Amino acid sequence: MLIFRQLFDAQSSTYTYLLGDSVSREAILIDPVFEQVRRDAALINELNLKLAWTLDTHVHADHVTGAWLMKQRCGSRIGLSAKSGAAGADRVLEDGDQVAFGKRYVEARSTPGHTDGCVTYVLDNQSMAFTGDCLLIRGSGRTDFQQGDPRRMFRSVREQIFSLPATCLLYPAHDYRGIMVTSVDEERRYNPRLGGDIGIDDFAGYMNNLNLPHPKQIDVAVPANLKCGQPADAKTDNSDPQWAALTFTFGGIWEIQPQTLEEIISQVETIDVREPAEFNGALGHIRGAKLIPLGELKQRAGEISRDKPVVTVCRSGARSAQAVVMLQKEGFRDIANLHGGMLRWRAEGYGAEGGN
Ligand code: FE
Repeated sequence: MLIFRQLFDAQSSTYTYLLGDSVSREAILIDPVFEQVRRDAALINELNLKLAWTLDTHVHADHVTGAWLMKQRCGSRIGLSAKSGAAGADRVLEDGDQVAFGKRYVEARSTPGHTDGCVTYVLDNQSMAFTGDCLLIRGSGRTDFQQGDPRRMFRSVREQIFSLPATCLLYPAHDYRGIMVTSVDEERRYNPRLGGDIGIDDFAGYMNNLNLPHPKQIDVAVPANLKCGQPADAKTDNSDPQWAALTFTFGGIWEIQPQTLEEIISQVETIDVREPAEFNGALGHIRGAKLIPLGELKQRAGEISRDKPVVTVCRSGARSAQAVVMLQKEGFRDIANLHGGMLRWRAEGYGAEGGN
């Protein structure tokens, strides 16, 4: 079975696509965004997938790819069109090349026009294709910068994308209205630039008179993307919290595991956000933990030390996750939720005061 997720970066309106093989758990990520690598890595981890490849559809002008950063984090390899002109890929793709993940694969179809190196990735059974900035939903990518050429784009769409089965779902690299998917049949009929009886000269005339503003990010994004997203000050990513080995969840919360907390318990402030009866109840509480029920946390945030990292605790880890969000709003930076709460803490055999 195919595992499939569509992810969105609101800053650049970019879609990132995760495709995984449910048997081998191998996955690929199409068009990752640099700023979303932590989120995407969390999802890959939670779905128990192993990222084999990141694949960019082209050298983007509006955001920096997460390919290089994901490689640092997950050990994934980087695939990119041979015609992209970018350095740093582990594999350069020619028209028709297949990239495998487990028993599944995508085929790279050369679809130039937006840039010379634009690729559409087509799933093995032709039920899905990822069109990058070639075909957009009821639109198309721009042809007025990089190596843009409307006539090449027209041929790419008609010969390489509209030739796919009518039911094939098409997923673009962007949509500025939040629309997520279309199909070959729909775009053949209703694309106002490329569908129906529209001819190559009609399309070129349309595209050559768009008069769009210069992309804001182009001077930063293109040089970075020509190195697969490796930053100019190319150290490895060290933006993760350094005070403990934490896990970032796809839900957006930093978590600490019971064993890690046990090891550093004297160096952190533990805030238990349950009710007093629970704090003194059967599960007991972690030694040294300070009781501030969740409902009082906002008013009593001043009682919490800002000199130490903070770990929040509750029964199961749910209320304490909300406590992390609340305390972050109050300016706490080094803060994490105890994964699984007191239930997990006790189940793994760590000691508690009170309780039984
Ligand atoms: Fe683009």
